[in-house]
Amino acid sequence: MQRENKHLIDLYEMPPCTLSVSGRFIHRIREMVATDEDAFPLIFGLGHVKRRLVEVLATGSGALIKGDFGVGKTHLSNAVFTVLQGYYLTHPVYTNVGCPVRENSIHLYNYIVENDHSALDNVCPVCRHKYAASPAKLIPIERIYITEGSGFARLQGNEDIEPEKILGMYHLLRFAEIGDPFDPRVLEGGKIAQASGGVLFVDELGLMNNEAQYALIQALQERRFTPSNSRMTFPVDLLFVSTTNNTNDFRIHKAVANRLVGIPVGRVGFGDEILIVQKELAKNGLGVRLPKLFLEFIVSTIRELNNIAVYLGPRSSIRAARIACVSAFIEGRTTVSFCDVKEGLHTEIAGQGDEESFDEINEMLSKDFPSVVEFIKQRVPAIETAFAVIDNYKDADTAFLNMDMQLIDDIVAYLSEDDSRPETIKAYLDAYAVTCGV
Ligand SMILES: [Zn+2]
Repeated sequence: MQRENKHLIDLYEMPPCTLSVSGRFIHRIREMVATDEDAFPLIFGLGHVKRRLVEVLATGSGALIKGDFGVGKTHLSNAVFTVLQGYYLTHPVYTNVGCPVRENSIHLYNYIVENDHSALDNVCPVCRHKYAASPAKLIPIERIYITEGSGFARLQGNEDIEPEKILGMYHLLRFAEIGDPFDPRVLEGGKIAQASGGVLFVDELGLMNNEAQYALIQALQERRFTPSNSRMTFPVDLLFVSTTNNTNDFRIHKAVANRLVGIPVGRVGFGDEILIVQKELAKNGLGVRLPKLFLEFIVSTIRELNNIAVYLGPRSSIRAARIACVSAFIEGRTTVSFCDVKEGLHTEIAGQGDEESFDEINEMLSKDFPSVVEFIKQRVPAIETAFAVIDNYKDADTAFLNMDMQLIDDIVAYLSEDDSRPETIKAYLDAYAVTCGV
């Protein structure tokens, strides 16, 4: 395909994009809704949270997603970027070639072609210098798409982030050498410039120092920013998404928090947490099957033991399930056994503690760890008769071989098709028969 060489004057011939970034976002969401496309696929539960996030960003406000570890805050933020990226793929947006903030060429067009002097406010100093006195037919423009570093930037909140990293930096020394204040080597873009036209994502906003928080918020509030050491002010248009854990919430400066719309994210429900763990397990490629009731037992145990001695979020469910699968894999088995499950839960839960909580966690694990036999009996009442059969044989394998077909059918009636293979039923029977050495 031949690369299109377009110039500012060409905007006359096409309907150019006149939307702000938040307008592009909501436009794309609307299109996706109209075609029944899920804007946030693979994010389970959180229906009202997703909707609120869309609403907040569509109004041009910055969002602060609040919640505990592992409730999917980062997933949500990445999904916002993917939606916006979809807009650029399906709708042409043009910028002036070499513009450090990917501003919409429509502003320069309105200034030069339409004689709208107010449009110059939205043209950055570099484009003004390079193009404002040129004829529209000589100003090169290019279609933009957004990617990491160019329409998407992320910041991991920590104490050491300096405002320059956010605002960019004007290198006086290089200016002295090069002599052109608009040379790209003189002006080094920060995270805001990188994110312009797209999404700026700050994970753990509260962990940034106050100066950095202010730098960020001023830019968002005024829709312009001034790089360090510079007197030039740049326009910026982006979606701002930040997150905080509930424990770090208080570190967000009041003035900053006031300028963002907070969106609380609670823990997803039991069923959705199961789906999240299943999705994560599908990635591991070990070829190990985790029987459904064991998966439910893992998630249910993590939720039940949460906050007794230590915080256990959905990430704990994911890790415990992964450890269980790895435990089976190491021993060359393709179906996870209850001992693998116990190993996963104990390893994950004990692993969340520190020196101080060590004794308390161990006490909890011996005292409050739920009974898997009760758990299975509750969901598959017919299995109780099968457990009794095991008492007559030395192990579950032999018992299974000698079991009535009718009894097995009774058990299968409670299980999903995927969960009614002989190996799975044997794994459930085994949970009754064995004691694990954890
Ligand atoms: Zn520009």
